Amino acid sequence: MDGSASAAGIKARLADVRAGIARAASASGRPAGSVALVAVSKTQGVEAIAAAIAAGQRVFGENRVREAKEKWPALRAAHPGIELRLIGHLQTNKAAAAVALFDAIETVDSARLAQALAQEAARQGRALRCLVQVNTGAEARKSGVAPADAGALVARCRALGLGIEGLMCIPPADEDPMPHFQTLASLAERLGLAVLSMGMSADYQAAIAAGATHVRVGAAIFGARAKQ
Ligand SMILES: *Cc1c(COP(=O)(O)O)cnc(C)c1O
Repeated sequence: MDGSASAAGIKARLADVRAGIARAASASGRPAGSVALVAVSKTQGVEAIAAAIAAGQRVFGENRVREAKEKWPALRAAHPGIELRLIGHLQTNKAAAAVALFDAIETVDSARLAQALAQEAARQGRALRCLVQVNTGAEARKSGVAPADAGALVARCRALGLGIEGLMCIPPADEDPMPHFQTLASLAERLGLAVLSMGMSADYQAAIAAGATHVRVGAAIFGARAKQ
């Protein structure tokens, strides 16, 4: 089956996801507006993205700086009011490009990266919103700080002048995500952080039950991706 969706398909899928978010929020006694939908547009062409924008979507996530640089400057020029969030690992040597392109960086995972981002945000006069990525599953091949180190990194970021709004995680693919969502939520509460980016197509409703303020949804909106 071809997983890619037509403009009408994207509009319908977006409506389904928005309804799913509203249901999950309501089941937890939260207003639907307390959960932001980040449409993950990695690997999607500009036509699919434009279809999502036409259907009212304004917040998007990309995982690679270079791909975002190819797609987004023109899309942003054509559609004001977009919020673009980096949800993939960021190398320090790409901090300048990332600060120029993104409104929010969800994947701060080292003091070195935080320092580069703080310097670039100041140099470019950009107000950057950041999250610290936490490797809740202690996976060797995944970025993010260990839960035990998150507090120290948040403090270090603040000292550097980099505002940290919250935490982000990507649970191990083969595990029940709920304990990971709960770990992230209690860590954020302990650190006094309001934003929780967690939950993807398969588990965003569970993430909302655990307190997600941002869910990152790709395939459920755009259709299945070719492997990256
Ligand atoms: C690709 C990706 C998503 C979206 O995953 P889907 O399963 O397509 O919803 C969410 N978060 C991150 C960090 C991703 O890389």
